[in-house]
Amino acid sequence: MKLVMFGPPGAGKGTQAKMLVEHYKIPQISTGDLFRENLSRQTSLGLKAKAYMDKGELVPDDVTIAMIKERIAQPDCKKGFILDGFPRTLPQAKELDKLMKIDKVVNVTSKDETIIKRLSSRWLCRKCGAIFGIDIPPKKKGICDKCGGELYQRDDDKPEAVKNRLKVYYENTHPLIEYYEKKKLLFTVDGEQPIDVVFEKIKMAIEK
Ligand code: AMP
Repeated sequence: MKLVMFGPPGAGKGTQAKMLVEHYKIPQISTGDLFRENLSRQTSLGLKAKAYMDKGELVPDDVTIAMIKERIAQPDCKKGFILDGFPRTLPQAKELDKLMKIDKVVNVTSKDETIIKRLSSRWLCRKCGAIFGIDIPPKKKGICDKCGGELYQRDDDKPEAVKNRLKVYYENTHPLIEYYEKKKLLFTVDGEQPIDVVFEKIKMAIEK
């Protein structure tokens, strides 16, 4: 099963991707996570991506596509995977089409005001990547419920970067909705519903 999780930043696609990983036992491939991992290891790829990420801009297509190609070629992707945050531009989508046939594109939607509220209250676990926020607050402030790791806030979740990320989403990524609609691959779900309701709807659409 090859899925694409699509939607604006903060709509909940990462949270849903993590739930799908547990359910279907296939890996989540988040380009944002891959860039952040590279940055924490200070690789040349990470350093190249940093300037764009800090401003909420997209990393250039050639860099992003090369990174995803390498990741998808790993043995754990043989049974399928969930792409989270890729593709984000038309050239990326076309490149993905050249590589393989996607089974479904799940478009998780949300209002801009909800997104800004969610991202400014989002906390991530440094150790396991779990996501906390308004909808799922951690039981203990600053500590991950799942592994006890330290929780942190992303620099690009600050209001100015979030506003730019939304603008970039509408300009570059939103047009892909029409691209996948034409291919009859798109399933749209309202990401403002309770997390479990969104998850059930996604599962039903995948298994239909
Ligand atoms: P995310 O964690 O998905 O919100 O991504 C964080 C940042 O990584 C984005 O704001 C971009 O700077 C960069 N990024 C992630 N995925 C892509 C992509 N598919 N194309 C270009 N840049 C990306």
